[in-house]
Amino acid sequence: MQRYSAFQLFKQALTGNTGWQRAWRDPAPKPRYDAIIIGGGGHGLATAYYMAKNHGMANVAVLEKGWLGGGNTGRNTTLIRSNYITPGNTEFFDHSMTLWQGLSRDLNYNCMISHRGQFVLAHSPEQMDIYRHRANVMKGQGIDVELVGLADLSRRIPELDTSPSARFPVYGAIFQPLAGSVRHDAVAWGYARAADARGVDIIQQCEVTGITRAVDGRVTGVETTRGPIKSDRVGIAVAGNTSEVCRLAGLRLPLESHCLTAYVSEPLKPVLDHVVTFGAGLMYVSQSNKGGLVFGGAIEGYNSYAQRGNLPRVQNVVTDLLAMFPNLPRVKLLRSWGGIQDMTMDGSPLMGTTPIPGLFLNGGWCYQGFKATPAAGWCFAHTLATGTPHPLIECFGLNRFETGHILEEYPQGPEPMLH
Ligand SMILES: Cc1cc2nc3c(=O)[nH]c(=O)nc-3n(C[C@H](O)[C@H](O)[C@H](O)COP(=O)(O)OP(=O)(O)OC[C@H]3O[C@@H](n4cnc5c(N)ncnc54)[C@H](O)[C@@H]3O)c2cc1C
Repeated sequence: MQRYSAFQLFKQALTGNTGWQRAWRDPAPKPRYDAIIIGGGGHGLATAYYMAKNHGMANVAVLEKGWLGGGNTGRNTTLIRSNYITPGNTEFFDHSMTLWQGLSRDLNYNCMISHRGQFVLAHSPEQMDIYRHRANVMKGQGIDVELVGLADLSRRIPELDTSPSARFPVYGAIFQPLAGSVRHDAVAWGYARAADARGVDIIQQCEVTGITRAVDGRVTGVETTRGPIKSDRVGIAVAGNTSEVCRLAGLRLPLESHCLTAYVSEPLKPVLDHVVTFGAGLMYVSQSNKGGLVFGGAIEGYNSYAQRGNLPRVQNVVTDLLAMFPNLPRVKLLRSWGGIQDMTMDGSPLMGTTPIPGLFLNGGWCYQGFKATPAAGWCFAHTLATGTPHPLIECFGLNRFETGHILEEYPQGPEPMLH
C-alpha cells in the first residue's frame, strides 16, 4: 500500500499528482473464499480489515451490491459517543471509542475525527437527576463525563436559548468531551483501503441474491449477480436490508425497518462548536466542517424501505431545533436524505452466531451503528474467525429474546419507535 504522508503529498505535488495509486483493487470474484462478508458499509469493511489484521485471515471477500459506503454509512449524521449505562452496551461502546481515537493512524487514512464533545440538555430538575445517575455510572466505568450547570452552558454554547422564557427551559446538561464527529465516507474508504492492502477482495456491484445451504443446513456459499461463490462462513452486515438478506437463508428476525432522515442547512460561519442534543424530544445538531448545520431526529413511524421521509417529520425536527436555537429561523434548509434503519425490539444490536451453522449476523443497529463501527468490526471479525461470539458482544445475541435478557438502554417496552 502506498503510504499517505506529508512527504508523499509534497512528492506528488512536484510530479503533477500523477503517481497516486488506486486506493483499492477491483478484483473479479474468486470461486471460493475462507469467509464472505455481505455488505460493503463501515461494518463489513471494518470486519474484513480486522479479520486480516487480528486473525491473519485474508482470503476474505466483501460483497457490495452498490458502491462502498452507499448505505447508511454514507448517510448518517457522523456522530460518535459512548454515554451508555446498560452493562454490555457500556463496555462495547467504550471499546469503540478507544478504537476511534487511534483509527486514522491505524488505517493511515485521515478519518477527520473531531472530539468536539456532546451536550445532552436537561429540561427539568428531574431530568438533571437522571443525568446525574448516568454520569455516575459512566464515571464508574472510567468514562470522562461532566454535569454542566446553566451558567456554564450558556457560556459554552452562546447561541443556545437558556432564558427562562425558552419554549422548553433548559436546566443544565450532561457533557461527554470525547464524543464528536467522524467523516463517514472516510471511515468506509479507510477500512477498504487497509483491508485491500492486506489481501481482502472488495467486490462492488455484486448483489447477493441467495444463500446456499447443504442438506444438513449449514451454509455453503452465496448466489450473486456475478455468479455463485463458495464459503462455509458467511457474515451479514447489511443494516436496513438485514431482514431481506436473512430471509434468503430462511431466517426471520425480530426487526422492523424504518426510514430515518437527516438534514443539512446552508453553510454558516462557525456558530456551534459542539454536538447538542435536545432533551425534550429526539433531535440533535452539530456543525459540519463545511459550515452546514447537520441535524436529525426520530425515525418515521411506519415500516418502509423507501429512503425518503415525510414533511411532518421535517416540521417536527425543525421545530425542536428552533426551540433550542430561536435565532436560526431564517437559515435555509439545503437538503435532506434518508436511510433505512434496522430497528430491534429493545434498541440494542443483534450480533453473533445464528441458528444456521456458518451464518453470522451483524445488524439491528437502530440509531447507533456508526459510532459502533470499529468495535462492531473488531468483534464480528473475532466471531467469524473463531466461530464463537467475541465476549463484548455475547449480550447482543439473538437468543436474548428467547431468554428474556433484553438490553434496553431507555426502558420503553418492545417499541422500536421509542428506542
Ligand atoms: C439518517 C441517518 C443518520 C444516522 N446517524 C447516526 C449517527 O449520527 N451516529 C450513529 O452512530 N449512527 C447513525 N446512524 C446509523 C448508522 O448510519 C448505521 O447504523 C451504520 O452506518 C450501519 O453501518 P453498516 O455498515 O452496518 O450498514 P451500511 O452502511 O448500510 O452498509 C450495508 C451495505 O450492504 C449493502 N447490501 C445490502 N443488501 C445487499 C445484498 N443483498 N448484497 C450485497 N450488498 C448488500 C448495501 O448496499 C450497503 O452498502 C444513522 C443512520 C441514518 C439513516
